[in-house]
Amino acid sequence: MTNKEQEITWDLTALYPSINDPSIEKAINETKTFADAFEKAYRGKISTLDPTKLLQCLRELESFYVKTGDFSLFASLSFSANMTLPEVQALYDRVSKLEAQLGKQLAFFSLELGALVKAKPEVIAEPVLANYRHMLELVQRRVPHQLTEVEEQLVIEKDQFGVQAWEELQSKWLNTRMFEVMVLGEKKTLNYGEANGLLSHPDRATRESANRVIYGSLGKDGEIFSSALRSICNDWVTISQRRKYASPMESSLMNNDTKEAIVENLLHAIEEKAGSYQRYLKLKANLMGLPILGNHDIVAPLPDMPERKFTFAEAQNLVIRAYSRFDSEYANAVKEMFAKRRIDANPRFGKRNGAFCASWYRGKSAFILENFNGTLNDVYTLAHELGHATHDYYMSRSQTLMNTSVPSTVAETASIFGELLLTDLLLSETKTDKEQKTILSMVLDEAGMTAFQVTARVWFEQALYKSIQQGKYLDYETICSHWTKARDRIYGDAVTWFPEMEAEWTMKPHYYMANYRFYNYPYVYAQMFVYTLYERYLEEGKAFVPKLVKALSAGSSVSPVEIGKIVGLNVADPTFWMGGLKVFERFIVNLEKVV
Ligand SMILES: [Zn+2]
Repeated sequence: MTNKEQEITWDLTALYPSINDPSIEKAINETKTFADAFEKAYRGKISTLDPTKLLQCLRELESFYVKTGDFSLFASLSFSANMTLPEVQALYDRVSKLEAQLGKQLAFFSLELGALVKAKPEVIAEPVLANYRHMLELVQRRVPHQLTEVEEQLVIEKDQFGVQAWEELQSKWLNTRMFEVMVLGEKKTLNYGEANGLLSHPDRATRESANRVIYGSLGKDGEIFSSALRSICNDWVTISQRRKYASPMESSLMNNDTKEAIVENLLHAIEEKAGSYQRYLKLKANLMGLPILGNHDIVAPLPDMPERKFTFAEAQNLVIRAYSRFDSEYANAVKEMFAKRRIDANPRFGKRNGAFCASWYRGKSAFILENFNGTLNDVYTLAHELGHATHDYYMSRSQTLMNTSVPSTVAETASIFGELLLTDLLLSETKTDKEQKTILSMVLDEAGMTAFQVTARVWFEQALYKSIQQGKYLDYETICSHWTKARDRIYGDAVTWFPEMEAEWTMKPHYYMANYRFYNYPYVYAQMFVYTLYERYLEEGKAFVPKLVKALSAGSSVSPVEIGKIVGLNVADPTFWMGGLKVFERFIVNLEKVV
């Protein structure tokens, strides 16, 4: 029946009736008029505003962004769903340029706001500005690291064709190479996306071939990737010093609204429990009938497991039941997403890969794009993205727009929580040990990658900057040895590695993204935070529901530490992270029981 299933597309008419509707043109023109008026009213004057006038200014800006949010969202969603349609491309291109132009025109606002907070720090505590207190605190933290307007402009202009070009080089390399992989004994010439898709193929020899061919080719050009990474890291060290950051990590810590000590506690906890992850990997080797796992088995599916397929209707039913078991009202956001057709589910030509959830502030809702093929993984993706939609549902009802910029450490709260709800439901309903094994090993594979493997990437990045600060030259061998050392701290003797895997770091796009250093630890943080949260829920039952709702409703109006306090957790406690790791260990114990 799967191929006869009707197409699940989203309904964007709540935003605009159609791509050619004149109301889009009107909204774009109004935006330009507003931006001009705002600039005229406030440029050069922000630092002189009294608290009441500042409040008015912030509100004007928020209502402006709420309005522009509609056509920005419409353009980007239309483009993501149908990237090859000329009229969609044209609108998307036009809106992207307009956004860049608005960004430049209104850049004075954040600079002047910084100057105001610096000159009059007492403004942060003004009762009239209570709604914006935390946002202003974050502005204050950034002020000492801001350059002058001209310097900032220069950095942007030079980065555009400077440090940003490395990212382009890396992705061009990946997108223009072909890989000769043995797929089930047959030689195939594949592009990177296709070859990469084979890394978790059920056939072991196919996985081995894909791993060796991909990383072997990357390693052959290791000098090129080293040049790129060396330049990116040195550029970052230089600019971090100029911005007077205490460390190369500080900017990321600010973006994530967290503290170095909290992150270090987290990384320590993960290292301390690396043995648990290794215990799972050894168990997995056993399940796969291997003496030890090869690196190509880490995320492989277990052999001879039933591959259950789901229709979209079945997935919808499962996710709604998973959320409703937690609380029927909590499931309302999810139900609404289906009822109002806010999900584009089917894969189609010209549609963006992967999945995302885009928030729609004015609609107090969101839109989800997924490429649903009916696998268990796809059902999890749906549960995950609907968690983001639930977060949007609650915070857009309680917060003004500026308080909905949730840092990555908190942004994954409802999404990972939603996955755990689904896991619980599935485990409670599966009848056979085989199905239990499939679910548990999938959950452990995922968590292992997110919490443990990503920790190795944090250490790797730390080691790169340490080398630079010690005056060492980052050649290919040095970078590879930083990677393998970090990797081995996590995997110990539980995995054997192909020599080609020393080049594993070369394929990670994040390392090449300009000004996006230390993207990684928030994933570890989020995973372990939510695992601990879930443990709390299991202990407290229904009494936990309003706490979670309150935490999600808070958006970015308070810090992640305060969010923890809302649900009764002390993130700053050095032993805090052990709670989440216990949940991870319990999944292992459950798996051991059914082996
Ligand atoms: Zn997510």
